[in-house]
Amino acid sequence: MTTMWSSLEHRGEHCASCAGERVFEQPPCPDGHEPGECPEWACAECGHALIFDLPGVPAVRPTVSV
Ligand SMILES: [Zn+2]
Ligand SMILES: [Zn+2]
Repeated sequence: MTTMWSSLEHRGEHCASCAGERVFEQPPCPDGHEPGECPEWACAECGHALIFDLPGVPAVRPTVSV
């Protein structure tokens, strides 16, 4: 019940587009990352993409708005 902000597939982050705290989720990854490993997250409200530069994970892909 209290895992909304701490699961591998959802996390709370500030969305620049929504100008507030939103739930981010990981979209289907074409790179074959496992849930929790992919640096790409998308706002569940507006789809705004965030790239989190995880240690050991190259994140050089530019943000693409859908
Ligand atoms: Zn948003
Ligand atoms: Zn990925």
